[in-house]
Amino acid sequence: MARWFEEKGIGDKDELVIQLLDRERLLYRVSARREFIETVKRHQRGLERARTVGEARSYVASLRRWVKPEGGTVALSEYDRLATQSFAGYRGIVSRPAHGERESVPPHLRALLDEVYGGRCQMCDFTFLKQDKTPYYEIHHLFPMRGHHPKNLVVSCANCHRQFEHAATKLQMDEQTWLIAVTFNTIRHSVYQAVLRAQLRPPMKQVHEM
Ligand SMILES: [Zn+2]
Repeated sequence: MARWFEEKGIGDKDELVIQLLDRERLLYRVSARREFIETVKRHQRGLERARTVGEARSYVASLRRWVKPEGGTVALSEYDRLATQSFAGYRGIVSRPAHGERESVPPHLRALLDEVYGGRCQMCDFTFLKQDKTPYYEIHHLFPMRGHHPKNLVVSCANCHRQFEHAATKLQMDEQTWLIAVTFNTIRHSVYQAVLRAQLRPPMKQVHEM
């Protein structure tokens, strides 16, 4: 162990991250905290730059193996992390729809929304499976000027999406600017925001004094 500390250049004041890999066999992974954080950030950068949804999914999977070796999901915490960015950097990304064509949501956000909502409409819970067995859904942008900011995207069924576009729509946001309710004409729908429902916790961290 002393040699391992030396090889990793870990000194007295360095923090370690200890993760349980296998409860039965009591297998642990020990990494220097800075190495742990650098690896997380490397995966996150890869995720944000992914050019396809498939590539984004593989980054989510490698991030999960690194952060949650016991199992569980990181899609929701990643979505929440990206949502803390300011709206400023997202300005004007979405072009106005022309003949039904619109700029598509970046692969990393699509991959995260896929996993977090499984295609279910955030207003009415509806989805259906396409012939390729993946769920059908659309993504509504609340304000064109906020582009693909995570708080500006709403997983929507075709019916609710058309109501956003054509009905008299009233939005209700919470103090963190997450959409929490929408009224189409006279009917109010509460909006399911997975991030607000979840108890998001940082990865297990223990500090050992040596
Ligand atoms: Zn719907």
